[in-house]
Amino acid sequence: METIKKIDIIVPCFNEGRTLDIFVDEVTRAVSSVAGYRFTYIFIDDGSTDNTLEKIRSFACQEHTAATEQDVGKAAGIEVRYISFSRNFGKEAAMYAGLKASRGDYALIMDADLQHPPQLIRQMIDKLEETGSDSCAARRVSRKGEPRIRSVFARMFYKIMNRFSDIEIVDGVVDFRLMSRQMVRAIVSMPENQRFSKGIFAWVGFETCWIEFENVERIAGESKWSVWGLAKYAVDGFIDFAVSPLKFVGVFGGITAVGSMVYFIAEIIKTIIVGKDVPGYASTICLILFFGGLIIAILSVIGEYIGRMYLETKGRPVYIEKESNIDEEIKPAS
Ligand code: UDP
Ligand code: MG
Repeated sequence: METIKKIDIIVPCFNEGRTLDIFVDEVTRAVSSVAGYRFTYIFIDDGSTDNTLEKIRSFACQEHTAATEQDVGKAAGIEVRYISFSRNFGKEAAMYAGLKASRGDYALIMDADLQHPPQLIRQMIDKLEETGSDSCAARRVSRKGEPRIRSVFARMFYKIMNRFSDIEIVDGVVDFRLMSRQMVRAIVSMPENQRFSKGIFAWVGFETCWIEFENVERIAGESKWSVWGLAKYAVDGFIDFAVSPLKFVGVFGGITAVGSMVYFIAEIIKTIIVGKDVPGYASTICLILFFGGLIIAILSVIGEYIGRMYLETKGRPVYIEKESNIDEEIKPAS
C-alpha cells in the first residue's frame, strides 16, 4: 500500500483577519483534491493586533468538530496548529517558527493574502515528484499591479546581490516553496538571528525546481512593507550573505592611500625643484575632505557588520511564543 505523506502548510500572518477566511476556504479546496498526501496548517500569528488570532483559534476548533462529526467546516478534516508570538517579530521569524514546528515529510510556506495561488500547490507537488528535487519554489514572472518603483529597486537588488555575494537568488522568487524534511532540517539548523530566508534557501543548497506564475494582487488588507522596511530588508539581506562590501572598501581605501602617497611624493619633488607653492591650499582642503569622507564611509560599512555581530552574539531567540496548540498545551510566555 502506498504510504500517505504529510505536508505542513506554514502561513505567517500579521493582521490578516480580513483574508484568513477566504484563504483557508481556497487552500482547503485546492488541497482536498490532492491524493496521497495529508495536510496540516501551521499558522504563525506574528503579534497581530486585529482578530487574526481569534480566527486561527476558531479554525483549530472547527477542525476538531469536523473530525468528530464529519462536518465540513472551513478547514474540514485538515489539522490546524498555530503559534502566536508575544509581539511582531517579522515574517522571517514567523517562517522560522513554522519550519521549526513542522514535522511533516514536506513543508510548504505560503502567504496568507492569496498572492500565492493555491492551485499551484498541486503543480508543485507533481513537479517535485516528477523531478525528484528537494524543493519546488515559485517564481513571479511579472510584477503586474506592484508599484513601479518597487519593481525597479527589487530588480536592482537581485542584480547587485547575485554579483557580489556567494549565493544566487533567482529574480522574482517569492517565499512560496515546498521543501523536503531534509531541507527543512538544514534551514532550522541555522540559528542566526537576522534571517534572510531567500538567501538561506539558496545557501543550504539542495536541488530546487521552479514553477512560474503571474503576480496576483492581495485579496484584502494591505501590504505590510513600507519603502523604508523594504530598503532595510534589502540591506540586511545583502549584508547577511556578502562580505564583499568589506573587501570593496578595503581595496578602495588601499588605492586611494597609494594614490595620495604618489601625490604627496610628487608634491615634495615639485617643492624641491620649483620652490614653495602657496596656492596649493585649496587642493589640501579638498584632500582632507575627501579622506575624511572616505574614512567615515568605510567605518560605517564596518560598523554595519560589527552591529550585526553584536546582535548575533547576544544569542537572543528569533521569536517569543505566547500561545500555541502544538503538543496540545497552551504555553505561557517564556
Ligand atoms: N507577515 C508577517 N509578519 C510581518 C509582515 C508580514 O507574518 O511582520 C506576513 C503577512 O501576513 C503575509 C506575508 O507575511 O502573510 C506577506 O506579507 P505582505 O503581503 O504584507 O508582503 P508582500 O506580499 O507585499 O511582499
Ligand atoms: Mg502580500
